[in-house]
Amino acid sequence: VVVAIGDATETGRISRLMQAAVPLSTPLTRKIEWFSKVLLYVILALAALTFAVGTWRGETAFDMFMAAVALAVGAIPEGLPAAVTVTLAIGVSRMAKRRAIVRKLPAVETLGGTTVICTDKTGTLTQNQMTVQAVAAGGESFAVGGVGYAPHGRIGRGGEPVEASGALRECLLAGLLCNDAALERKNGVWAISGDPTEGALIVAAMKAGLDPEQAAAGLPRIDELPFESRCQYMATLHAPVPSASSPGDGGVIYLKGAVEKVLERCSAMLSADGAEVALDRDAVERSAADMAGQGLRVLALARGTAAAGQKSLEHGDLRSGLVFLGLQGMMDPPRPEAIQAVEACRRAGIAVKMITGDHAVTAAAIAAKIGLAGKAEIRVLSGRELAGMDASALAEAAQTAHVFARVEPEQKLRLVQALQAGGQVVAMTGDGVNDAPALKQADIGVAMGMSGTEVAKEAADMVLLDDNFASIEAAVEEGRGVFDNLTKFIVWTLPTNFGEGLVITAAVLTGAALPILPVQILWINMTTAVLLGLMLAFEPIEKGIMGRPPRDPGMPILTPALLWRVATVSALLLAGSFGLFEWELRHGAAVDYARTVAANVFVVGELFYLFNCRSMSASMFSLGVFSNPWMVGGVALMALLQWLFTYLPAMNAWFRTAPIDAWAWLRILLVGVAIYGVIGLEKRLRKRRG
Ligand code: ADP
Ligand code: MG
Repeated sequence: VVVAIGDATETGRISRLMQAAVPLSTPLTRKIEWFSKVLLYVILALAALTFAVGTWRGETAFDMFMAAVALAVGAIPEGLPAAVTVTLAIGVSRMAKRRAIVRKLPAVETLGGTTVICTDKTGTLTQNQMTVQAVAAGGESFAVGGVGYAPHGRIGRGGEPVEASGALRECLLAGLLCNDAALERKNGVWAISGDPTEGALIVAAMKAGLDPEQAAAGLPRIDELPFESRCQYMATLHAPVPSASSPGDGGVIYLKGAVEKVLERCSAMLSADGAEVALDRDAVERSAADMAGQGLRVLALARGTAAAGQKSLEHGDLRSGLVFLGLQGMMDPPRPEAIQAVEACRRAGIAVKMITGDHAVTAAAIAAKIGLAGKAEIRVLSGRELAGMDASALAEAAQTAHVFARVEPEQKLRLVQALQAGGQVVAMTGDGVNDAPALKQADIGVAMGMSGTEVAKEAADMVLLDDNFASIEAAVEEGRGVFDNLTKFIVWTLPTNFGEGLVITAAVLTGAALPILPVQILWINMTTAVLLGLMLAFEPIEKGIMGRPPRDPGMPILTPALLWRVATVSALLLAGSFGLFEWELRHGAAVDYARTVAANVFVVGELFYLFNCRSMSASMFSLGVFSNPWMVGGVALMALLQWLFTYLPAMNAWFRTAPIDAWAWLRILLVGVAIYGVIGLEKRLRKRRG
């Protein structure tokens, strides 16, 4: 029976939610956009000024048009778009080596600016290797021995091994039958296929001597309601094989799931000897809280009767009247590398928040073990509390809570929006179909590569190959490195552009000949951007990059300190090239010769300054002079090209250059050394002061 089509279906609803979550532009795209706009206006103003002043001084309009073009060519950083793309792409490949696949290029950089990571618990912060450690049934508590999936270990009470009977046996049997996982032994190693939570239940039952195949043969499964995060339970319908003694017996329903969900459907419980008695709800809740307090994931099990001949199972069959069988508490140890990664995030000023469908107490215990906060400080917000809050209350609560427990996938979207409203850059993990809208909305949506659905991966910006929290932290580190290297490129490239623009402006204003021609400017910009500037993209991540606070999303790429640096180098390049150009002319050199000197000042100056730019604060020597082999190669190739530019007759003809002598080179090198020295000194002074 078709009840809905298109937008009215579940799938349609999810796709509508996904469309509602508008993809945000990233901090980088916003900043570059702003930056290009400002640059454009500055350049246009300068070009217009040059043109106006020149023609007013009596130069021809054609000459001034050429000068304005030269200025525009010089001042526009042609290499910037390529550098942005290449730097991001290198970041992507570095992240892939650390098991994080980036699907959208600008996400690399957003990662570096992340201020909050909201992460799943099971499997991401924890190992998802479940072992049942405690069972409570018939008013008694039992301990389960052994670790891992090997079905070896004893079930005991107060240190004494016990035979499974009555409620204990029924509780273990329910866990075994209401189960979609399978335990198998491969090459002597026990492994499960399916959900680890369910695998653990099989192992626990086998430790009590129950046999999975025998149990399934005795009560074959007729139907099931599979586990879903939003209803938090799973149920199966079984019917005994008809025999002569019991030709048409009714079947049995097994239910397992979150304690609240199961208890609200029960009216009786099994006693230790297997008789049905009245349900002692308080006692059950107390022992569940006790297990959860130890960080155990608690599952409740129940049983119901089905009518004879019932062939299918509905949620309605489970509404009430079930018999509570017991609780099983399982351990899911934290991933050791996640503990370290959380610590690294804290040092880096990034808040880590856990989102889970699990119980609040269990989640808080695990959160303390992983180090999200001290045991006493952990603040937990439950899905129910979340649902009752309006947007502003939620925005405030979301900032301070460490754990969001019993959260439904749909609530993740609200959480992301609440955090974003507080000005945070949010990374959010997810694996299910229902997580897709939240992944879309987050600044960085992170999908699980192993357990994730295709829909989640489609909606995500990044996919974790190993579902491991530590990989997110690694990706953040790489992202910070990428932003660092991009800033280095921008700080490196702008002085060439400003310097060239200033040289042209200065020449026009003083009525001198153009010290560099438009083609020469084009040559300088293209070769240095590729052979020198791009090599900054290969700079390794600087030490201590995760010891800094996250970048303020509102901060411009160029801080006042960096602007000062750009201005200083631009001024030095202007002085060097214009000065040497005039000096050569005055000493009788031809104009082509003087222009070759001026052009070489730019290239050599940029080359020396490149070494300054390898780090914003450290000196090239503390980084290791040869620690970036790409740069060594780029510099060598650049020197060769510049030699051809100066001495090869064909190049002389194309670019109107002329061979220059050794003394000219010495003067050019002095300008380069001066730039390196001044910026080196500035870095050192700033370091001492800061
Ligand atoms: P998590 O965030 O830890 O992955 P889930 O949404 O998977 O949380 O699980 C929420 C709750 O649902 C668990 O605390 C547990 O009580 C119950 N649950 C989990 N897995 C199953 C399952 N396979 N069958 C029945 N109930 C389950
Ligand atoms: Mg789960």
